[in-house]
Amino acid sequence: MTTPYEPLRPTKGPLGELLAPVAGFGVTFASMFRPAVTEEYPRRKTPPQARYHGRHQLNRYADGLEKCIGCELCAWACPADAIYVEGADNADAVEGAPEAHMSPGERYGRVYQINYLRCIFCGLCIEACPTRALTMSNDYELAGPTRAGMIYEKQDILAPLAQGMLAAPHPMADGTTDTEYYRGEVTAPTAAQVDWVREHRPDDATLDDAAAVVAGDAPPPVPAQHELRPDQDRAEAERAAAHESNLDGRWTVHEQEARA
Ligand code: SF4
Ligand code: SF4
Repeated sequence: MTTPYEPLRPTKGPLGELLAPVAGFGVTFASMFRPAVTEEYPRRKTPPQARYHGRHQLNRYADGLEKCIGCELCAWACPADAIYVEGADNADAVEGAPEAHMSPGERYGRVYQINYLRCIFCGLCIEACPTRALTMSNDYELAGPTRAGMIYEKQDILAPLAQGMLAAPHPMADGTTDTEYYRGEVTAPTAAQVDWVREHRPDDATLDDAAAVVAGDAPPPVPAQHELRPDQDRAEAERAAAHESNLDGRWTVHEQEARA
């Protein structure tokens, strides 16, 4: 014998039954008198919280050398298998100039890719990085029209050169090892580094600013650990200037229109 169904909620009275079809509009009606919460994105962008985990960034030391040593620890730590790294010897970075370095120490990250179709922004990779080369910026605009465009290359996440930095490759600061770099004791390019770049790349765009730092005419560069929103446009513009071929596949239609 089955038990008759008894609803737990009290049944409506005649008036409740009458108004039931329009009761749902009560929420809509009440919302008309509340402040609007709509955001005019992407025309007006709200900065995320300072510790928001967005696009990754590969950082530099103050003399312009890259912090990444190509150790692959970030790739091994990634639960989504989103990172691909290929290391190489610094001695082979510039043919015929074994003294040139891309990063302090023996190795540097020759290939560095992050697949943003896989990344879940957990931050385990930045915890694993032994040199603090890898951090996460506030950039949350990571959409694009193609799958291939969502695989960011090293040049897409490498921190831009701050004012006064000397573009790599060049020798390490005189009399230092990677330990001095890790300890933060290298705070600016040296005269020997500037001379080396002047000899091997006399047209390098960073030479004059770095020479001014060495001469004491300009303050030492300040490496950025994170590119926050106010600097984002500058960083993107620099990447765009260097790698225009990446733009069509990566940026949204709105961004391409805004930059046209
Ligand atoms: S944030 Fe997480 S998922 Fe994304 S690359 Fe780093 S470890 Fe992998
Ligand atoms: S980002 Fe850090 S952990 Fe990853 S390869 Fe470079 S140095 Fe190693």
